[in-house]
Amino acid sequence: QNAEAVLTVNNIEVVYDHVILVLKGVSLSVPKGGIVALLGANGAGKTTTLKAISNLLHAERGEVTKGSIEFNGERVDRLSPNELVRRGCIQVLEGRHCFGHLTIEENLLTGAFTRCDGNAAIKRDLEAIYEYFPRLKQRRSSMAGYTSGGEQQMCAIGRAMMSKPSMILLDEPSMGLAPQIVEEIFEIVRKLNATEGVSFLLAEQNSNMALKYATYGYILETGRVVMDGPARMLRENEDVKEFYLGVS
Ligand code: ATP
Repeated sequence: QNAEAVLTVNNIEVVYDHVILVLKGVSLSVPKGGIVALLGANGAGKTTTLKAISNLLHAERGEVTKGSIEFNGERVDRLSPNELVRRGCIQVLEGRHCFGHLTIEENLLTGAFTRCDGNAAIKRDLEAIYEYFPRLKQRRSSMAGYTSGGEQQMCAIGRAMMSKPSMILLDEPSMGLAPQIVEEIFEIVRKLNATEGVSFLLAEQNSNMALKYATYGYILETGRVVMDGPARMLRENEDVKEFYLGVS
């Protein structure tokens, strides 16, 4: 990929508990304004890659032991997750993690916690989020814990958008959702990308769907990138079709 990169991961290794080597030299890049898919089976290391970028590994006794990570041309591998959010890079965790006892609207507002541009701007952005996610507008006063899985996934993405990111690391948005809802969510991702210019690194087991929306993809296997290329090329590659797209 030759376009200017917003995110560059250079040859990182990740170790859990000081001994378990999980990422064995992963490199990837996301061009400014791109949607890049990170594909691979369960356990290949997709979540670990995203958490390494957001610096969220410490809670799980993991650490980056080699390599470097750059966001907007600056080294970020020693930054706190909060500082990274302030600079515009935010992760939407696998499993959504909405606050079940808060309303959808309260959840969305928690996403603005790093901002200091005042309530009027936050209110305006909240209304803009509702334009992208009409379902969230309908459900704005419902407790998130009582909304559907799809609505919670939308809430998690909407909450991330409230931090005004230039890049979202999106972990397995399709998990546990019906294909129609997954498509609805990916369509919104495409819109956020096209209209707001947000770049996405999208970790997905659902390679079929991810490669419809991404422009480029990386395939991880046991902690290594085993193939990468434009989405169209991956979709047409016979090995990818057989092992990752469920067709042969
Ligand atoms: P999934 O889709 O299931 O999330 P993944 O591709 O995201 O899969 P990871 O969750 O990154 O994979 O896991 C990669 C490997 O690291 C797996 O073998 C997993 O067992 C191991 N692993 C993950 N977290 C830890 C941890 N906290 N301690 C030890 N090993 C871990």
